[in-house]
Amino acid sequence: MLKRVLPLILLSAISFNSFAQPKPKLIVGMVIDQMRWDYLYRFNKLYNDKGFNRLLSKGFSCENTMIPYVPTYTAVGHSCVYTGSVPAVMGIVGNNWFDKTTGKTVYCTDDANVSGVGTTSAWGKMSPENLWVTTITDELRLSNNFKSKVIGIALKDRGAILPAGHSANAAYWYEAGKWISSTHYMTELPGWVKQFNDKDLAGAYMSKDWNTLIPMDQYDQSTEDDRAWEGRIKGENSSTFPHRLSTIGAADKYESFRTTPFANTFTFDFAKAAIENENLGKNTVTDFLTLSISSTDYVGHAFGPNSIEIEDTYLRLDKDIADFLQYLDNKIGKGEYLIFLTADHAVAHVPAFLTEHKIPAGVFNEADMTKSINAAVETEFGIKNVVLKLMNYQVYLNTDAIEKANKDAVAVKKTVIRILKQKPFIIDAFELDKLSSVTLPEPIKTRMTNGYNPQRSGDIQFTFRPGYFDGFSKTGTTHGLWNPYDSHIPLLWFGWNIKPGKLNRETYMTDISPTVAAMLQIQMPNGCVGHVITEVMAK
Ligand code: ZN
Ligand code: ZN
Repeated sequence: MLKRVLPLILLSAISFNSFAQPKPKLIVGMVIDQMRWDYLYRFNKLYNDKGFNRLLSKGFSCENTMIPYVPTYTAVGHSCVYTGSVPAVMGIVGNNWFDKTTGKTVYCTDDANVSGVGTTSAWGKMSPENLWVTTITDELRLSNNFKSKVIGIALKDRGAILPAGHSANAAYWYEAGKWISSTHYMTELPGWVKQFNDKDLAGAYMSKDWNTLIPMDQYDQSTEDDRAWEGRIKGENSSTFPHRLSTIGAADKYESFRTTPFANTFTFDFAKAAIENENLGKNTVTDFLTLSISSTDYVGHAFGPNSIEIEDTYLRLDKDIADFLQYLDNKIGKGEYLIFLTADHAVAHVPAFLTEHKIPAGVFNEADMTKSINAAVETEFGIKNVVLKLMNYQVYLNTDAIEKANKDAVAVKKTVIRILKQKPFIIDAFELDKLSSVTLPEPIKTRMTNGYNPQRSGDIQFTFRPGYFDGFSKTGTTHGLWNPYDSHIPLLWFGWNIKPGKLNRETYMTDISPTVAAMLQIQMPNGCVGHVITEVMAK
C-alpha cells in the first residue's frame, strides 16, 4: 500500500513546485534622482566596470523608457515607479498642488495627523496619506500576509515615503545630518538608527573639501569649470573646484551636504546599515529595499548636466554603485537579489548654456504671468486676484469669486487663455477639462491626460517652446515637462531572473511595477496602468 502511494505524493509535490517560481531574497529598487538616460553613455568611458557598466553588461537595459505623464517632478516620479500608475489615478500630481477647498498649497507627503520620530520639526510630519493607490511594495506585503519586510530610504522625504508605500515597516529620510521617520511607521527610532545618527557621518564628510576625483583636464564631457550659469552650494562663495565644504558654517553645513556627492555615499552607508540590522534578505520571503539617491538632483539643479560637478558626481556614484553591488554579492549572494535602477525624471540643460551655443532656450517667471492675468481679469470683469495659484504650469482659478461676481466663467477663462498666449514662448493654453477637444500632438496629449486629476490639478494648462521653463535665476536648471530631456530615463534590471540584453522599443515608467509583479507572481498595484516588459525575464 505504502509503496503505491509514495510515488504519487512525490509526483504531486514535483508538479506543485513547478508552478511556483523561487523568489529573490531581496529586491532593491534604486531611483537616481534626476538621472538622464544619456549619462549611462556620456560618462561611460570614465566609469569602472563594476558599477553602471556591470549593470549594463550583465543586466538588461530598457533603452527608451519614457515618463507617460506631466509634470515630471520627484514626488510624481517616485509614485509612478512604485505604483505603475499616473497622477490622474494615483493622486500625486506634483511635489505640491493647490487645494481649493482649504485655499492652501499641499506638500505631497505632508500629514498633520502624524508626528516626527527622531525630530520635533515639521519635517517629521510626513506619511504616504496623499497617495490614493497601493505600491508594488504594498502588494508584496499583501501577497504573503505581511511577512516581507519593506524599508524606504532617501535623503528626500518624498523619495523614501512614496516608494515604501502605505504598509511599509519603515521609511527614513534626512534632516540636519540625521535620519528621521514618523509615527506612521513607528513610535521610536530603532537602536541601530540612533547609533548611526550619533556617528555624525554627515559632519565628517563635510569636514573635507570636494575635489575632482580625477585630474580636471580628463572631464572632457563637461564645460570648463567656473561658468556664470553655475549656481552655488549654500554657504560657499565660489562655484568652482575645489569646493571648500569645510569652510561652510554650522548654519548651512547639514543642508549644503545634500548638494555634494558625499551625501549619496552617506545614503549607501545607511542602506547597508539597514540591510545589516534589519536582516533584509534573510527572511523566508522576499524583502524590498527602496533606495532613492537624491544628491544627483541637488547637484544637477545647481550646476546643470554639462558641469564638471555633475560629471564628477556620476563618477563617484558609479564607484558607490560598484561597492554596493559587491556588498550585495557578499551579503545576499550573486543572483539572489533583484535590482532595478531608474530615475524619477531627467533634466533640461541650463538655458544660459544652450543660448551660448545658439540653441533656443530661456526662462520665464510665473509670478509675472500671474500679475498680467489678474490685471486683465480685473479690468474686464472687476474680479480681483482671479489666480489662486500658478503652479505645475497650470492656473488654479478662483471659480467661487467668478460665481459670486455673477460673471460668465467661460468668458473669464477665455481672457486668461488670451493673456497666456500673448507670451511669445507660450505655444498654447487650454482648459484641462476640455483636453479631449484640444488639438495637440498625441504623445503630449496623452501625457497631459494622464497628469490631469480633477480634484487636485489646476483649471488651465499651458504649453511652451522646448528649452524654456519657469525660473527666477540665470543659474542652474530644472525639470517638469513632457519633453524628452525631462522624460527619457534609464531603466536597468540586474540579478535574479534577469536575462542580459537591451531593448530599444519604447517602454514606460508605468511598466516597472507590473514587471516586478509578474516576476514575483503577485498582484499588480491597484491603480496600475502599465504593461509587463516580458523581454527582461530569463524565465
Ligand atoms: Zn527628483
Ligand atoms: Zn529636481
